[in-house]
Amino acid sequence: MDKIFIVKRVTFIGFGLINSSLARVFKSKALAKEICAYSRRKETRLKIEGLNIVDHIYDDIRQSVENSDLIILGVPVGAMKSLVKEFSAALKSGAIITDVGSTKKGIIDSIMPELPSDVHFIPGHPIAGTENSGPDAGFEDLFKGRWCILTPTENTSKTAMETVKSIWHKAGMKVAIMDAEYHDRVLAITSHIPHLVAYSIVGTVTELEDQLKTEVIKYSAGGFRDFTRIAASDPIMWRDVFLNNSDAVLEMLGRFIEDLTALQKSIRWKDGDALEELFSKTRDIRKGIISEKQD
Ligand code: NAP
Repeated sequence: MDKIFIVKRVTFIGFGLINSSLARVFKSKALAKEICAYSRRKETRLKIEGLNIVDHIYDDIRQSVENSDLIILGVPVGAMKSLVKEFSAALKSGAIITDVGSTKKGIIDSIMPELPSDVHFIPGHPIAGTENSGPDAGFEDLFKGRWCILTPTENTSKTAMETVKSIWHKAGMKVAIMDAEYHDRVLAITSHIPHLVAYSIVGTVTELEDQLKTEVIKYSAGGFRDFTRIAASDPIMWRDVFLNNSDAVLEMLGRFIEDLTALQKSIRWKDGDALEELFSKTRDIRKGIISEKQD
């Protein structure tokens, strides 16, 4: 008897940390009959070949999507529009397109006008990742126990949504449905601002005089080390996140700076009670994350 696949042919556009991890899930759980990948650089295509996950590897983006039932965009947010423009005329009628981008409203606004009316776009964002990039950085368990947020638009097809949902479930994710703008505000505070703070603190160190810089690196286990892990994330990906979610990031950044100034005041006035009260509240947030198994 023929195996039951979720889709016949899937195409991964871009094959970095996220898409290569999802492709590993497709391969090991046999979710598609044919797994295809497009990558622009030869070096990456050779790496993909070595992984033995993908059936067909393309350097021509239009060919890569032809006859595919599902196309998954896994490139930096700022690169999506021009790639979609390039391949949209080659899409088969009824195809489903989804993405894994870290911002949502900007992607929806830029991609939707480029798509033919007979394909279905399901915007998505798996909240899982590491600071590593590229096809070798991926692993099948990346998504296990984490949340994936889908941000459908008014006209999103229910059937296409169910298909995308079932794929993330197979990857071990819990799926939440959210409005795109709300997603961008939530992610601004849970992900984008923490990255900005890490980039900023580590950036401060790069400006220090040489002797002090050496000490910081030597004694980094005091807390700095944890920021360097986050600040080692891909520069292009994060550049695009801040350029594409600027409204929500600036709003949350305003609040963060106010709170930081209040802390500065507490330290100057030696207000130990205020410091202790805040540090106890933040400890409770950590406990909440652990009990939700998101640590
Ligand atoms: P990654 O490991 O850095 O891989 C990026 C991929 O995009 C590579 O395959 C690269 O291809 C391709 N690419 C980059 N610029 C391109 C361009 N201008 N045209 C065509 N291809 C291009 O990236 P990732 O971490 O998987 O992130 C992919 C997406 O997932 C991003 O939108 C990001 O916001 C989102 N996301 C990331 C995380 C995370 O923690 N990393 C978590 C959730 C969502 P070549 O190697 O051939 O250049």
